[in-house]
Amino acid sequence: FRVPAVDNEPMRSYGVGSAERRSLEAALALMQQELPFEVPCIVNGKPITTGKLAKQPIPSNHAQHLCVYHEADESTVASAIDGALSAKAEWEAMPWNDRASIFLRAAELVSGKYRYKLMAATMLGQGKNAWQAEIDAAAELSDFLRFGVKFVEELYAQQPPKNAAGSWNRVEYRALEGFVLAVSPFNFTAIGGNLPAVPAIVGNTVVWKPSPAATYSNYLIYQIFTEAGIPPGVIQFVPGPPPEVVAQAISHPSFAALHFTGSTFIFKKLWKDIAANIDKYKGYPRIVGETGGKNFHIIHKSADVRNAALQTIRGGFEYQGQKCSALSRLYVSSSVWSSGFKDMLLSEAAKITVGPPSDFSNFLGPVIGRPAYDKIMGYIQKAKDAGGEVLIGGNGDDSKGYFIQPTIILTKDPQSITMKEEIFGPVITIYVYDDADYEKTLELIDSTSPYALTGAIFATERKALLTATNKLRNAAGNVYYNEKCTGAVVGQQPFGGGRASGTNDKAGSISIFYRFISARSVKENF
Ligand code: GLU
Repeated sequence: FRVPAVDNEPMRSYGVGSAERRSLEAALALMQQELPFEVPCIVNGKPITTGKLAKQPIPSNHAQHLCVYHEADESTVASAIDGALSAKAEWEAMPWNDRASIFLRAAELVSGKYRYKLMAATMLGQGKNAWQAEIDAAAELSDFLRFGVKFVEELYAQQPPKNAAGSWNRVEYRALEGFVLAVSPFNFTAIGGNLPAVPAIVGNTVVWKPSPAATYSNYLIYQIFTEAGIPPGVIQFVPGPPPEVVAQAISHPSFAALHFTGSTFIFKKLWKDIAANIDKYKGYPRIVGETGGKNFHIIHKSADVRNAALQTIRGGFEYQGQKCSALSRLYVSSSVWSSGFKDMLLSEAAKITVGPPSDFSNFLGPVIGRPAYDKIMGYIQKAKDAGGEVLIGGNGDDSKGYFIQPTIILTKDPQSITMKEEIFGPVITIYVYDDADYEKTLELIDSTSPYALTGAIFATERKALLTATNKLRNAAGNVYYNEKCTGAVVGQQPFGGGRASGTNDKAGSISIFYRFISARSVKENF
């Protein structure tokens, strides 16, 4: 059998008066009426209320909480691991067509029955506007699941091309021995679902620790997985304080893999913790991580000025710059800068409205929480202290929610702090280079930051595109020509970067699945 052909989930427009806008508004209103929700841990399909309560605040209105959740304690994590290990044999032995159909069904539930609920949870809990929530919780999540099944079908079909006379070679794609730990971030509901789903599709069982700031949307995903038919124990939902839960899982002898998206700092720490435990494990754990970025646009003198300006606004400010892929440092040719680019950029930035996502006219929502707000405002201050000129924005208002104005800083120092360090907020720093220094600027891009996630090159001259692609060979895992550096689409642009940005295993492609299987070759003579 073959699983059905898959395609990207069509995006809905949410125009004023549209049916989808009404449905989404109704879902938001209902959620606002019913909150705060109570979220348990789920182990072996059973809710566990540990009584260790924590809250997920609403970042656009921090007096309110979207949910109160039970943090996993030591015994919960221990039974989650035991349960995952016990569930494994049956899950892995389930015929592939059944496992595949469970995830295809989950995708249908995401894009159909639960679409608006998941989007509402993403808008309220993670501060996305309707369109960003649609891209993430509706489209990308269902794409991850549907394409995931298709990729695995393709992977399972890969067999040795040759058999000697009288024999038959085959490769079995087994799940890893042990359990997988998935640690997911707040900024994409889709990544929340994808991190446990990828290993589970190929037959692993998973202990999943969602981000505290995405607990409720991720809990809904857990419920969707269950409704779709994932058996108890296959994915264990253990929200909780990251250090404890994760340390306990990593120090378990049956720890087989880490599937992580989050900060570089934490990923490096986990890597060291895994190394420190290496003698305990049966095998060498797989470590798969997508971490930070310091993503760039470079605008060549031949660029289409209007396109470059509009894409810059979107790359830097959509979802408040809280995508790992978000544009953060911009290198503009001096002739483009003075021939309309600066004015266009500033006039577009001035049009941006900031406020709660439940008001659909707001382009920019809040940043995720207090620490993020303080960190981003701190960076703006540091940029000013270092002589950076704030061209627009620069202020925040945390009285009700964590709102920061879209901020554009001009610097004369290409090594200044906001050209180098990840900010994860709505801040773009610009360095204007002499047209003659295009190649030198490419070298600067390559050497200024330890990250290598995404980048975009704006030029109409083919040679300028090629020079940049060659010079920046290792500076980004995802490169765009004349388009913003965010918004990789599942099945179209495999996503991930190298250097300090991660293991570059490419989410949304077949590559990532290889990390969670352990192949066995079988030769039989007739
Ligand atoms: N895949 C997303 C993009 O291309 C970013 C994911 C992330 O922030 O981790 O924009």
